[in-house]
Amino acid sequence: RAKSAAKGTTAYFDDVMGMVAAARLEIEQQLRVAVRERQFRCVFQPKIDIRTMRVTGFEALARWTDCDGRVRNPSEFIEIAGELGLINDIATIIVADAIASFPALDNAFGSQTRISINVSARQASSPTFMTEFADRLAASGQSQRIILEVTEDAIVAAGPFQSLVLPQLRRMGTKVSIDDFGTGYSSLSALADITADEIKVDRSFILSIQDRPRSQSILKAIESLGNTLGMSVVAEGVETEDELNYLLDQTSIQTVQGYLFSRPLFVNELVKLAGTFLTSRGKVA
Ligand code: C2E
Ligand code: MG
Ligand code: MG
Ligand code: MG
Repeated sequence: RAKSAAKGTTAYFDDVMGMVAAARLEIEQQLRVAVRERQFRCVFQPKIDIRTMRVTGFEALARWTDCDGRVRNPSEFIEIAGELGLINDIATIIVADAIASFPALDNAFGSQTRISINVSARQASSPTFMTEFADRLAASGQSQRIILEVTEDAIVAAGPFQSLVLPQLRRMGTKVSIDDFGTGYSSLSALADITADEIKVDRSFILSIQDRPRSQSILKAIESLGNTLGMSVVAEGVETEDELNYLLDQTSIQTVQGYLFSRPLFVNELVKLAGTFLTSRGKVA
């Protein structure tokens, strides 16, 4: 009896593993089609200066509209695209789409804004990719309006990024932001190793910050590090009025992103909301 139960369990796991493998094969095939058909677009989430309530920039986030019209998030494809060697192709499409969105965004928000573009650890650790990336930005003529977002782990791991590509990006006027700050294994090494322009405090520290003394202390420490090292500190994941009010009243943080102001939106949706950002302290209409 025990034996057959064990056998049943094995068969069950074999089934599950089979399904996992099949699902993976399916997404692989879909992703290859997606790259060929250029099914990737950016959505943009505004960055808000909470002292003036103006939009100072946008984070470009990749979305994949698949053959069935489903809009899929990066968690469903960035990692696997990296493994399949498709990430560079996707990045090329995303960068082109971000750059191409400037005229429409400028029309609605003015031309003082910057667009932030995410680069994964895998991308940052490839000198070939990063060099091409920098060349592409340079060719666009908009490199001085771009911010590159990299995580701490990427910075620490990516020697070539620091020594080769970073100086090149700097010369082109591109800024660098450390994303999800405080969640990596080596936040402080990241700060020692790289001169970034911006620190993005991970949203786990912003969540209910008004009720969390420990998060408050951590944010204070990051703020003072940022001030000392000449980096601006951005809070991501601001979802509530209480969180916003805490940041306004208890910190010197100037720039935030979060659902309270806007979800990431396709450019045509975003421009329709342009007027509402300047008026209200809080949600868009
Ligand atoms: P990230 O760069 O830290 O981006 C922030 C994520 O938080 C986005 O998820 C955004 O939609 C979400 N978010 C924004 N405001 C809020 C909020 O108030 N509350 C909550 N709960 N979430 C909020 P998304 O778009 O699913 O992207 C996830 C991650 O995928 C990004 O994290 C980034 O690491 C990666 N990613 C996105 N686009 C690209 C890309 O083009 N290339 C690469 N390499 N990675 C990308
Ligand atoms: Mg980011
Ligand atoms: Mg982030
Ligand atoms: Mg994140």
